[in-house]
Amino acid sequence: MTALVFLDPDYPAGRIADAMTPQLSVLDQGVTRGDGVFESVLYTRSVVRKIDAHLARLRVSADTCDLAIPGEEAWRAAIATAVETFDASTPSEEAVVKLIATRGTEGTAHGTCWVTVSAAPELGRTQRDSGISVILLDRGYDSTVAERSPWLLMGAKTLSYAVNMAALRHAKKNGADDVIFISSDGIVLEGPTSTVLMAHRDGDVKRLITPTLETGILPGTTQGAIFDAAKAAGWVLGYGPLTPENLMDAEAVWLVSSVRLLTPVNSIDGVGVARDAELHAELTAMVDSIG
Ligand code: PLP
Repeated sequence: MTALVFLDPDYPAGRIADAMTPQLSVLDQGVTRGDGVFESVLYTRSVVRKIDAHLARLRVSADTCDLAIPGEEAWRAAIATAVETFDASTPSEEAVVKLIATRGTEGTAHGTCWVTVSAAPELGRTQRDSGISVILLDRGYDSTVAERSPWLLMGAKTLSYAVNMAALRHAKKNGADDVIFISSDGIVLEGPTSTVLMAHRDGDVKRLITPTLETGILPGTTQGAIFDAAKAAGWVLGYGPLTPENLMDAEAVWLVSSVRLLTPVNSIDGVGVARDAELHAELTAMVDSIG
């Protein structure tokens, strides 16, 4: 069952609707143009995880798109109603809370905003243990495009994910599980739905490194939370630019995201990468402790 709650000024706690019946106008620009923003949030053990970071990023994405969205309180109220509705019908260990804001139907001043809660996909959970194979794909932009071309909305989580999904299908057709995008000048970017992390041991020093945001990637809330926990545990943090060779030389490489959490990479373009079990266990414990 998917719980659905619309943000609606006439309903302070949100308006509950039926996710299995039509609810949206065919003229909504979220549908006709993919014009809108969203967040995917993990709901587990009765906690909507990292909700502050997700609401903050939703706001930044909306501002980047010049999209007016309701304030945080309206989102929090709708989320509370949606998880309550979900819990009442579907006992589930892990669920995904989606926050969606579109530009609404053409000509209207306000957008369409809603929250859904659905059971989390099983595959993400198994891949946390098994690890994944990834291929490197050229994203077609160089690593400085974000600064030059703000209309590309780099770093915003927009509804225009058709390219990201096409990259994942391309990986599957080629026998791989996932993708790491590379810029046209050879810099590591991100996965279609995840952030790249790598670790290095330097004697007793443990380094955790992620691509720099200057490349135009999405600022990952999971990466941010893991970095905070790793710093508190004495790890040294680093930010790219990273090359594919850096990943091949790492002690471990992961793709991380809110729903999938910490997924180890087994191979890149068919070549095995190291999987340091101790570092993985340490970071997994950190991820489990993120509220
Ligand atoms: N990068 C992209 C393109 C994403 O779509 C996502 C999540 O869906 C991430 C990174 C990871 O972000 P988060 O950790 O906040 O889920």
